[in-house]
Amino acid sequence: ATEIRLASRPKGTPTLENFDVVDTDVPTPGPGQVLVRNTWLSVDPYMRMRMSSAKSYAAPYEVGKAMLGAAVGEVVESDVDSVGPGDTVLHGFGWRSHAVLKARHIVKVDPQAAPVSSYLGVLGMTGMTAYAGLFDVASMREGDTVFVSGAAGAVGSVAGQLAKLKGAKRVIGSAGSAEKVRWLTDELGFDAAFNYKDGPVTEQLASAALDGIDVYFDNVGGEHLEAAIDSLNLHGRIVVCGMISQYNATAPTPAPRNLSQIIAKRFTMRGMLVGDHEHLRSEFQSEVAPLVAEGRLKYSETVVDGIRNTPQAFLDLLAGANTGKMLVRL
Ligand code: NDP
Repeated sequence: ATEIRLASRPKGTPTLENFDVVDTDVPTPGPGQVLVRNTWLSVDPYMRMRMSSAKSYAAPYEVGKAMLGAAVGEVVESDVDSVGPGDTVLHGFGWRSHAVLKARHIVKVDPQAAPVSSYLGVLGMTGMTAYAGLFDVASMREGDTVFVSGAAGAVGSVAGQLAKLKGAKRVIGSAGSAEKVRWLTDELGFDAAFNYKDGPVTEQLASAALDGIDVYFDNVGGEHLEAAIDSLNLHGRIVVCGMISQYNATAPTPAPRNLSQIIAKRFTMRGMLVGDHEHLRSEFQSEVAPLVAEGRLKYSETVVDGIRNTPQAFLDLLAGANTGKMLVRL
C-alpha cells in the first residue's frame, strides 16, 4: 500500500518537498470496519488551506500524517452489513491506496448509474457546490446575467452551464488560457468568455457585460472580485465560493478597493460552504444527474495516473493545468 503524508507546511506556493510518498503494509480491518482499495482520488483547492496551520472551517492536516480527501474505491473486505466485497463506495480517506473505514464514513454509490469518477466531480462535491452557490446562496433567477470566475474548473464549469440551463440571459466566464476560453464558448455554451491573463479583468469584464451583471460566482477573489463589483447591477448578488488567487498569499490580502459601491448598488455578498447545503442533496441529484446523462450538462476531467503522482496533480491543479475536475486514477 502507499500513502501520501504532509511532510511540512508550505510557505507560499507548495512544492513536492511538502509531501512524502510512503509505502506501507495494507491495513487490516477490525470488527465493524471495511477495507477499501481506492480507485480514484480527488485533489481540491481547499487542501491548500488545510496544509497550513491557520484556523479555518476544517482542521489543519497534521505534519507526518497521511493527507485526507475525497476518494472512491472498491470494498475488498467488509465486517459491516451495509456493504460487501466489490461494492463501490465514496469516502473521505483519500491520498492513500487503501483505507480502513467504519460504516458511517462510507457512502455506497452505483457504478452503473454514472462513471464512478463523476461522484467526485459533477455529481459530487464540486457539482453540488455549483448548484447550492448559484441557486441557494445567489438566488439566481431567469433573466439574470451571470459572471463565473474559474469558469473552466470543476465548480465553475458546472455553475456556468447550470445558469444557462436555468434561463440566465447571459453567462460570462473567465479562465486562464485561450484553450479554456474556447472550451467555455464553443462546447459549454457560455455567451462570452475571456482569458484573465490577457489584460485587466475590470476592462475585459466590462466589455463582455455591456449591461452589467446580476450575479457573480466568485472562485478567485482579488482582482476578479473588484471587477465584478464594478460591473454589478443594482441589487446584484455575489456568492463567494472560493478565493484561489489568495490561497498561497504569505501576507493578508487587501479587501476589494471598491467595496463602498455596496451602498449605492445595495448588493449582497455571501460566503458559502457546500456542507451547509446538505438539504439540497436529493434535489441536486434528481435535477443534475439526468442533465449529465442526457449530455445537456457537459463535464470534463483531467486525469493523472498513479498514486505517487498525487502531489504533482495537486500542484498542477493550483497552477491551472486542469480543465474541469482534477483527479488521480489508481
Ligand atoms: P478548479 O477545478 O477550479 O481548479 C482550480 C483552478 O483555479 C485552476 O484550474 C486555475 O484555472 C484557477 N486558478 C489558480 N490560480 C488562480 C489565480 N491566481 N487566479 C485565477 N484563477 C486561478 O477547482 P474547484 O472547482 O474544485 O474549486 C474552485 C473554487 O471553489 C476554489 O476557489 C475552491 O476553493 C472553491 N470551492 C469552495 C467550496 C465551498 O464550499 N465554499 C467547495 C468547493 C470548491 P485557470 O487556468 O483558469 O487559472
